[in-house]
Amino acid sequence: MRRLLCSAIAVAPLLLAGCAGSDSTDPAAMTDGDTTTAASSAASAAEQAGAQQATEFQYEGEFGPATWSSLSPQWGACADTSAQSPIDLHDAIPADLPALEFDYRPGDIALKNTTHTVQADETPGSEVVVDDSHFPLTQFHLHEPAEHELDGVRHDAELHLVHTADDGSITVVGVLIDKGAPNAALGNYFDELPAVDETAELDDFDPSQLLPTDRANVRYAGSLTTPPCTEGVQWIVMTTPVQASAEQLNEFRSVIEQNARPLQDQGSRSVLLDSEGH
Ligand SMILES: [Zn+2]
Repeated sequence: MRRLLCSAIAVAPLLLAGCAGSDSTDPAAMTDGDTTTAASSAASAAEQAGAQQATEFQYEGEFGPATWSSLSPQWGACADTSAQSPIDLHDAIPADLPALEFDYRPGDIALKNTTHTVQADETPGSEVVVDDSHFPLTQFHLHEPAEHELDGVRHDAELHLVHTADDGSITVVGVLIDKGAPNAALGNYFDELPAVDETAELDDFDPSQLLPTDRANVRYAGSLTTPPCTEGVQWIVMTTPVQASAEQLNEFRSVIEQNARPLQDQGSRSVLLDSEGH
């Protein structure tokens, strides 16, 4: 059996990133010459590795989203049907929501290809403030196509700005992207996309330019959209999409396979609308 295990320790605590092994991106490679099933091998490998290890996951095939909860004992939340993300954001209810303030500053960032996305690790200094709670920006990454739908519409891509407070609570800001004009703010990101196992550095990157001018947003309680599918995530999805060119999104697709988790059940959750964006 080839590498089913990955560097979960290195990606703690968010576990949004995944494995670094290039051969683990290919399901065929994982079962090549193997007499046991891939799933049972994965389970047994996870068992041997103990709680600190995580198993590879994929967006399609035998390690696809329907199997995530069974791939690791730590990923049970992925099977939950009441509090997972993404969802279709529809019929948002206008509400008087906690004040939202972005305090994003330029800084040097490191790009890393996790095989599931290209993740930009932020240097300290940027944060979002929701009411009086401070959530430092820890990383951002892209999904193509978008994961959330907005009123039944799936946009071409979705940026996730992940913020983690000192107490570990997570706020993710989603920015929907449509094909159109080149995205200047993400220009260097798309230009420097590293291959699997490689990294790149972007100097003086300004995350404030990633947000739409109109800060209207919808909010709901959800989860990480990748294993371990941790719940209790505060989602803030901007309702005004930004644009990126087809060439830019093609560049991303040339290093990352489609990486959108299917829509999850909304359950009894409400989607709330902050139409003013402040
Ligand atoms: Zn994401």
